[in-house]
Amino acid sequence: MDNRPIKLSEILTHLGEERDHYFQAVAPPIIQTSNFAFKDTASFRAAFLDERSHHLYTRGNNPTTEILRRKLAALEKTEDCLVFSSGAAAMSCGVLANIKHGDHVICIKNPYSWTNKLVSKMLPRFGVDHTFISGEDISEFQRVITTRTRLLILESPNSITYGVQDLEGYAQLCHKHQIVSIIDNTYASPLFQNPVDYGIDLIMHTCSKYLNGHSDVVAGALCGTREMMDKIFASELMTLGSILSPNDASLIIRGIRTLALRMERVSNTALEVARFLESHPKVEQVMHPLLPSFPQHHLARKQMKGAGGLFSFLVKTDSKEAVNKMVDNLKCFLLAVSWGGHESLVLPFSIFHDMPNRQNPPYQFNLIRLYIGLEDADYLISDLEQALEVI
Ligand SMILES: *Cc1c(COP(=O)(O)O)cnc(C)c1O
Repeated sequence: MDNRPIKLSEILTHLGEERDHYFQAVAPPIIQTSNFAFKDTASFRAAFLDERSHHLYTRGNNPTTEILRRKLAALEKTEDCLVFSSGAAAMSCGVLANIKHGDHVICIKNPYSWTNKLVSKMLPRFGVDHTFISGEDISEFQRVITTRTRLLILESPNSITYGVQDLEGYAQLCHKHQIVSIIDNTYASPLFQNPVDYGIDLIMHTCSKYLNGHSDVVAGALCGTREMMDKIFASELMTLGSILSPNDASLIIRGIRTLALRMERVSNTALEVARFLESHPKVEQVMHPLLPSFPQHHLARKQMKGAGGLFSFLVKTDSKEAVNKMVDNLKCFLLAVSWGGHESLVLPFSIFHDMPNRQNPPYQFNLIRLYIGLEDADYLISDLEQALEVI
């Protein structure tokens, strides 16, 4: 089933760990240093000539973060990986590296909120314009490509309504028109979807979700060719300097040890909870990319080996207060943003409606997103059951 060049178990348990260098310690050391010293002027000079392959200063390379980078690159089957202080930093650096003044960007509509801000608010300040596409029909993309289009930003599935894009179709068109493609692959994780298999150039992850998996680190990653990573290292990574600390890298390495276990567990529990909700009379609709009722479930099944713990549902009510009351009645779900940790979460879109001086979000007030953590399905289902009684 696992067609990575290196076995998944090898990546999670050993890859990148050179234990001969640190007393055969099983857990890699946190090389908590900003600076590295040189034996002589010749080796000092050599490091300046090629900082990318030397330890000169931790804004560039650090041995602890290198272990994480090697694991993430192997998980995404790419030549290399760079890590950042957040997923937002990774996406911003991946985008900025591939555009210049006068270029045009095509982006999937309603991407992650800060990707949206980057494309619609920041890039125009630097003379880069954009078109949002639904991503459901590839001909729409062909229609909006211009001679100035340099970049396509995908997010498949997205993390609220799980819209899926035909990765192979988009990658082929991008290659034909010399457009760089970047995807936010956070929803699927590298275990359930490897976009390079379909020809996507750059894969972005926030490690804050599944990769770290314990809700105690904010971090991001970009995976791609050595050439692309060289370019981003020498420019955006080093100039913007939004790097990951060795300490946080070591926490993510620890989290990754159990990635396969956690993904299997949350995927199974989430499907069980989603099926329960789908059969509940007070639920109008469940949005989960692998349920047969999901409009794009064939494409989702073709591209993804699993779906993880995130899904959404619509409560059958026309009262915002009823939604809030139902959510307030939940005892086993924390009311919070983010996801991918050990704990189950609930995010009701009712809270974003009728905010002063703000537009309503493009989602109905009765939409609720659940993240299913590592708890038992029965524990979560009985909590939802009692909370839905108020509807
Ligand atoms: C959380 C998230 C991000 C941003 O990651 P940070 O590490 O919080 O900056 C980007 N994309 C998706 C899909 C996310 O869920």
